Amino acid sequence: MSKLEYERLHHNLKLLNLITFESILDNYLEIASRDEKSTIEILDYLIAQELQSKEARSLSLRMRLAGFPVEKRLDDFDFKFQPSVDKASIKEIASLKFIHNAENVVFLGPPGVGKTHLAIALGIEAAEAGFKVSFSNASVLVERLAKAEKEKKLEDKIRGLSKFQLLIIDEIGYLPFDELGAHCFFQLISRRYERASIIFTSNKSYGEWGDIFKDHVIAAAILDRILHHCTTVNIKGDSYRIKERRKQGLIPQNFSG
Ligand code: ADP
Ligand code: MG
Repeated sequence: MSKLEYERLHHNLKLLNLITFESILDNYLEIASRDEKSTIEILDYLIAQELQSKEARSLSLRMRLAGFPVEKRLDDFDFKFQPSVDKASIKEIASLKFIHNAENVVFLGPPGVGKTHLAIALGIEAAEAGFKVSFSNASVLVERLAKAEKEKKLEDKIRGLSKFQLLIIDEIGYLPFDELGAHCFFQLISRRYERASIIFTSNKSYGEWGDIFKDHVIAAAILDRILHHCTTVNIKGDSYRIKERRKQGLIPQNFSG
């Protein structure tokens, strides 16, 4: 290979954005020549490395885009501590069929039982499988939607969210929504209905959702759409936070909170 061809090859690989291919090429060609690799083997190796690093880069971009507040994994969830969570059902949800079918998942239960943990863990599974995911706190999301509505940009905002195959809306019910918030939330739910998935977490039972939206008619309309294709995971049990504090000796053994 002449110097001109050598330089053009490197230059063109960079132009094609084959960064890994370009950076390992010289080194690998030496190894390949020593090991008497065939041309096919060399190309196969270089292209596989390029693909692998591209996938890693795009996963890390999807993870950043998702905005998970912390990293939580299914493997870190102690199912023995929370027997009301059926491991097989969570595994079934983690197959991500629900995203393909544009279905929803709702985690209900008191504080500290692992709702957010499971929602994030499923979100990470989805991001790793190539789906675009966005995590947001319910109040923050609704505030953003209401702001967009005031600026006559609600439609754009909701359309922007449709690029995510999975939305995670955490902590529905910690703060009530005002009338405008409930209206915007309804628009979002209607838009995604039968088109794209949402995972919700809430400390309120469905019967109490009317109080979150204040308006029981809009609450019923929202619930109707969410629940039509939905898996509900009802978690009943002790707070994991209490267990940890108990372990540190900060709470008496018989305190149940
Ligand atoms: P919730 O959203 O239900 O209020 P979180 O998911 O935030 O509760 O859980 C509180 C803390 O306890 C988090 O740090 C979470 O990782 C941890 N946690 C909760 N349940 C479990 C569990 N069964 N196994 C391991 N960690 C858990
Ligand atoms: Mg939570």
